[in-house]
Amino acid sequence: MPELPEVETIRRTLIEKIQNQTIEEIICYHPDVLVNPDDISLKNWLIKDIRRRGKYLLFDLEKAKLNISENNSSENNLNHVAKDSCVMMVHLRMTGKLLLEENIVEPAKHTHVRFVLSNGGSLDFNDTRRFGRITLFAPGHEFNDHGFATLGPEPLGYDFTADHLINTCKRYSKSTIKGVLLNQQAIAGIGNIYADESLFRAGIMPGRKAGDIPKTKIKLLHQKIREVIAEAIGYRGTSFRDYVDGLGNKGFFQLQLAVYQKDGEPCPNCGTTIERIKVAGRSTHFCPQCQK
Ligand SMILES: [Zn+2]
Repeated sequence: MPELPEVETIRRTLIEKIQNQTIEEIICYHPDVLVNPDDISLKNWLIKDIRRRGKYLLFDLEKAKLNISENNSSENNLNHVAKDSCVMMVHLRMTGKLLLEENIVEPAKHTHVRFVLSNGGSLDFNDTRRFGRITLFAPGHEFNDHGFATLGPEPLGYDFTADHLINTCKRYSKSTIKGVLLNQQAIAGIGNIYADESLFRAGIMPGRKAGDIPKTKIKLLHQKIREVIAEAIGYRGTSFRDYVDGLGNKGFFQLQLAVYQKDGEPCPNCGTTIERIKVAGRSTHFCPQCQK
C-alpha cells in the first residue's frame, strides 16, 4: 500500500510533467471508482497544482479557457453544475496507481479511470484491487470526506512535535504503539512499512501499550519517524510488490529496510532473527533483542 513517501514521490513525478496541462476529458470505465457528489463536469480542466496530505493526493483544477466553437460542445448539454474550479481527491488505497502515458493506448485490464490530456497522452488510474477512489469536489467540499477531514499532522510538518506525539500516546494510552502510528487521525501518512521501521530505529516493541512508553523513548520515536519518512522520500519510496511512481519507476527504500518483511533474516544491528507477529491487525516485523 502506498504510504506518505510513495504518494509524495508520485506527486513530484506528476507535477513535473502535467502542471498546467489540460485534462480534456475524464473517462470512467468503472463507475464505482469515480465519485462525483457535486456533479462536477468531466471536461476541460487545467491542472493548476497537485498537493498531498497524508496518503491523499489533491489536484487543484481550474476551468480551462475554451474557444467559442468548443464552448458550444456537448459540455452545455450535460446538465453539470458550471464551476470555475474543483478539487480532485485521489486515494490509492491498496494497489492504486496513477500512470502517465505519452500516447493514448488501449486501456489496460485494470484501468478504471482515464484523464485525456491536451498533450496527446493520458493519466491512467489503474487498480487491480479496486479499493482506490477518485472524488471530485467543489472547492472546500473535500472536507466532507471524513477520513480526509480528520487527518492528524504531517510527520514532517511543523505541528508534528515530540509533545504532540507524547500527548497522542496519552490519548490512545490503551492502544499499541503500532496502532497509534497507523491511526491516520493521530499522524497522517504512516502505514505498515514506516511504522515497523520507525519502531525498530527507536528500539520500541510494536505491541507495547502507548501509555506505558517513557517520554524519552517517545521523543526518540518522534525523531526516528521524521528521519525514516524523510529518507524514504529521498529514496523515492519503497517498491514492495507493485508500487511504482507516476512514470512507472520503482523506488529504492526497500534496500534500506531493516525489519519490514525481513522475518527469518538476521537483524542488521545485532544478528538476532527478525520475527513477525500480528499487531493492530497487521503483519508486524521486529527484532526481539533490539526492541523493548
Ligand atoms: Zn536486533
